[in-house]
Amino acid sequence: MGRILKTLLYDGDISLSILDTTDIVNTAIEYHGLTPLAAAALGRTMTAVAFMAASSLKNDDDRLSVTITGDGVGGQIVVCSDSKLHIRGYIDNPRADLPLNSLGKLDVAGCVGKHGRISVVKNLGLKEPYTGSCNIISGEIAEDFASYYTFSEQQPTGMALGVKIGTDYKCVGAGGVVMQPMPGAKEESIDMAEKLLSEFSAVSTLIENGGIEGIVEKFFKDAEFEEYEPRYECNCSKDYVDKILITLGEKELYSSIEKEGKIEVVCHFCPKKYTYFKEDIDVLLGKNGSNE
Ligand SMILES: [Zn+2]
Repeated sequence: MGRILKTLLYDGDISLSILDTTDIVNTAIEYHGLTPLAAAALGRTMTAVAFMAASSLKNDDDRLSVTITGDGVGGQIVVCSDSKLHIRGYIDNPRADLPLNSLGKLDVAGCVGKHGRISVVKNLGLKEPYTGSCNIISGEIAEDFASYYTFSEQQPTGMALGVKIGTDYKCVGAGGVVMQPMPGAKEESIDMAEKLLSEFSAVSTLIENGGIEGIVEKFFKDAEFEEYEPRYECNCSKDYVDKILITLGEKELYSSIEKEGKIEVVCHFCPKKYTYFKEDIDVLLGKNGSNE
């Protein structure tokens, strides 16, 4: 289970969110067999999406998905969330690997790419989904999401994200800090928020050492927080896969069965596998009993 704490700072001028997504990143590592580099890229994106979901999905059926399509070695990254903050994601190349960058850190920008687009689709119960996109700025993800908010949603945003991977390839600390000025925020509050954000350039180490409580204790002792609990959970189901298979058509389905003996569908987001034999396809197409 991850955690998000939200509050307002400086007389309500700045909204603050603190996220601990360590468990979510560890589930992603377990499901996809991620390298530390791929875990950092996907984990930072999942953290940003957890923030986005907690701040914009209000109704039961609301959901959103974010796609980052860059020219890095990791390929495309896709992360989705629903309003329960059930988050799931994948990266095209889970085995992506590069030497450490010049700062001695995981080269997330090399994994994501420095050129490309970040696209957001929000289904908010309206006729048409809300869509927005912007160019990748640095490929480090926090800056890219901050720029998405500023340019696509006209909401200035400061964001720090981090994922730290231990020697055993497990995530030892992942999370983020996000600050946004409220309408009419005073200039001095914005200045203070900018200064404060610079304290979180190593947010994953802060999470590793003291968890989210450590951050609160050190920086926001007197604040009162609203709490949310995001987690990694896939919503795939046999029903959903049934519907996709039906759209492929009878001919295609039976020809696959003839060639392979079965049809196997593996979920992109979780390790679930859906296997269909000829009898299952018969049932699916309403042909049950026709050959008796
Ligand atoms: Zn799934």
